[in-house]
Amino acid sequence: MPFLTQLADVARRTGGPVTEVAGWKTRGHGPQPEVQGIVCHHTAGPAGGGDYPSLAVVRDGRPGLDGPLSHFGIGRSGTIYVIAAGRCWHNAPSTSPRHDNSSSIGIEAENNGVQPWPAAQIAAYIRLCAELCREFGLPASRVKAHREVNTAKPDPHSLDMNDFRASVAAAVKGEPDPSWTENLVKNLPQIRLGDDNFDVKTVRGCLFARGHVPPAAYAGVAEGLEGWLKSTRCDTGLVELVRGFQRAEGLDEDGFVGPKTWPSLLRV
Ligand SMILES: [Zn+2]
Repeated sequence: MPFLTQLADVARRTGGPVTEVAGWKTRGHGPQPEVQGIVCHHTAGPAGGGDYPSLAVVRDGRPGLDGPLSHFGIGRSGTIYVIAAGRCWHNAPSTSPRHDNSSSIGIEAENNGVQPWPAAQIAAYIRLCAELCREFGLPASRVKAHREVNTAKPDPHSLDMNDFRASVAAAVKGEPDPSWTENLVKNLPQIRLGDDNFDVKTVRGCLFARGHVPPAAYAGVAEGLEGWLKSTRCDTGLVELVRGFQRAEGLDEDGFVGPKTWPSLLRV
């Protein structure tokens, strides 16, 4: 295999921002012999200091290990940095013959090793792995965490690699990321009888939009339908309508708006 000068085009197919680091097309410890796998890393760089403060280290190396250390970087914003087209020193020794330096592509995502991962960065990570799988004809199972192919390494921290690979597989097929709905629903509030907040209005609006608010529901309300939609209180009347909606959707009729009912209300 020659130098992988198509890598910037592959990165751009993710649809996200791509920065070509000057000289990348000829950077490497010789050409890349083959691509059988993908190894995901975190940089263990500084906690702050911009989008990709580890660029110089990944490009040029550190004492005792010459750069380039990986083909790609991913900034905290999700920007993909194309750093090298040849072989990189990112995984030695490797417990997998498909994930050593001569047989795999390395991706170094900016993270100090403990800080939370920004959603945009993870989304770019998944999409880049998916485009690389497509380009090199690899199944998502060939995407490995560094810690999975080198037992001395901890990176990338806290990512469930089975979930990650499921997202990569879905992206390869062109399906929406399966974790998107889960993440959305996880962050939604739970609404029950007696609550008084603006999220109650969202429930009212969704029920109305789905045709589950008969005129009788707001007949006695000041300002009629408008007044009913503006109310931030979860009263017994609203709970009854939620139950009716749940019945129609085949959900448990508990009158409680939680992780089971929100996706139906929002149609996600
Ligand atoms: Zn690593």
